[in-house]
Amino acid sequence: MMKHVKALAVLAAIATVVASGFSRTNVVSGFSQTTAAQAQTSIKLYVLDGGVLESDPARYRLTKEDVGTTQLSVAAYLIVHPRGVLLWDTGAVPDESWKPTGSPVQQRLVLPDGQERSVTIRSSLNAQLTASGYSPARVTHLALSHYHWDHTANANAFARATWLVRQNERDAMFADKPLGTATPMTYSALKTSKTIIVTADEHDVFGDGAVILKSAPGHTPGHQVLFVKLAKTGGVVLSGDLYHYPQERTMNRLPTFEFNEEQTRGARKAVEEFLARTKSQLWIQHDFNAHAKLKKAPEYYQ
Ligand SMILES: [Zn+2]
Repeated sequence: MMKHVKALAVLAAIATVVASGFSRTNVVSGFSQTTAAQAQTSIKLYVLDGGVLESDPARYRLTKEDVGTTQLSVAAYLIVHPRGVLLWDTGAVPDESWKPTGSPVQQRLVLPDGQERSVTIRSSLNAQLTASGYSPARVTHLALSHYHWDHTANANAFARATWLVRQNERDAMFADKPLGTATPMTYSALKTSKTIIVTADEHDVFGDGAVILKSAPGHTPGHQVLFVKLAKTGGVVLSGDLYHYPQERTMNRLPTFEFNEEQTRGARKAVEEFLARTKSQLWIQHDFNAHAKLKKAPEYYQ
């Protein structure tokens, strides 16, 4: 009798996955060893600190008074799942461009279009991954929220991972002159990476519904957010640049430099609905005060 009950539970889990749109082939090849419940319990989310970016709220149609704190955080995240290790975004400062001293170091970056940015950074991405037990070689999957310079700085270090990207974003990245503030030299190696072109609005990365890339276009053509379902913390959506300052969300303001403002409005609406449906928290990656409160690698969320 016990055996029968267990078999039914497994069938139910498989049925759920099939219903969510995952193909039967993938279910059979990859889902037999781990049930969704088991996978979820062991998922770890590491918050990696990419430093502090000086910013001007006027670029987001906000004033200093509106935002209080004008600085933005830079963040990347490592998601450790029984079926793979996914890095989400790669920071603003290339590891090879500076030497950590143990104290915060200010980096001045000149973007290809001549604009200057200042990022104050304490620890390299590599050092934070290594301290967590995941050197770049152990990262199996890479996804970027989008291709702007402050998300791609260390992308080349993960060119051996499988890259998950939408076609229009990839096209924009490798255009002769990418639109917006991009530093193509930081992601050029991805051109020959093993690549999965993501087509679904919601793409289930590991096949059990626990890690989902959700389309959120507008900031760039193929901008996306990442949903992670954690056993203790619950659902978390990593925002990419859907918002930067939290006041963009509460005061309904758009950046001045969107690829398509109408799409951003639609994406924000769709993500807010997703948050309500999945009862998830939104972690705004550039929100300085929210990011400061999060525990950082090698500590992690479960
Ligand atoms: Zn950004």
